[in-house]
Amino acid sequence: MRWKTPTRSVVNARGSAPVPEGDSIHILAGKLRPVLVGRVVTRFEARPLPKAATDDLVGHEVVAVEARGKNLLVRFDDGRVLHVHLKMLGRMRVEAQRAEGARAHFRRAPPQIALEVEGARVVGNRIPVLRLLRSAAAEARSPDLAGLGPDLLAETFDESGAIARLRTKGETEIGAALMNQGLVAGIGNVYKSEILFLEKIAPRTPLAQVRDEALAKLLARARWLMRKNVAARGPRTTRFALAGPNKWVYGRAGRACLVCRAAIVRIYQGPPPGRSTYFCPRCQS
Ligand SMILES: [Zn+2]
Repeated sequence: MRWKTPTRSVVNARGSAPVPEGDSIHILAGKLRPVLVGRVVTRFEARPLPKAATDDLVGHEVVAVEARGKNLLVRFDDGRVLHVHLKMLGRMRVEAQRAEGARAHFRRAPPQIALEVEGARVVGNRIPVLRLLRSAAAEARSPDLAGLGPDLLAETFDESGAIARLRTKGETEIGAALMNQGLVAGIGNVYKSEILFLEKIAPRTPLAQVRDEALAKLLARARWLMRKNVAARGPRTTRFALAGPNKWVYGRAGRACLVCRAAIVRIYQGPPPGRSTYFCPRCQS
């Protein structure tokens, strides 16, 4: 069987900022759902899962594809769940079946994961977290999933639950706390910098100094931006319909703030070696 490879991968089509955040995982789930749900698995290989476990899924139907924060969950009809986390480098894409007789292409190394159903397959590489959970009970015990904070992109976002979790980390700098998926799920490096800029909050501010109303506005801003990007499916942007760069501060160290012209600064926050945060020292003072 031959497979047609799209020119860009589903979550790699992000221009200058390809690292998956909650929005890209929701976009990915949206692309996988029509391909997989309601279809029977015809072949499944996934390293490092044991072959016996993956072979055993052949003949089972995919019943749901979900995104939770930055986690992707593929549910099967016997209760098993494939849990994938792409972290920084993992990539997944859909390949449509190529008509027989089409031009053969070069043989490439087999993908790390290949989940085939009739007419299509999903492939992925460089995926650091790949687990096959046996049941909902196993899912509830999984530290990565059970410990997740409220998902910003869920149909209904538990805002007060997220604020209550953030309140447990009063001494933590807000720029580090927003990346902690156990407090609120979905925000990655790009949105962290952008929402702090838009809400004029300095990234080094300890959470205890940020009032509930300001946190609520910040989370609402994040949810609005991420939902808009999921709907648009284009390059990630926080400056819709504005001329110039598609982000306010992210990736713009040393360049002029688009509001006040001061030079944008980059710092590192969170557990060593830290993640980069970009901010305007004048607008966010
Ligand atoms: Zn500024």
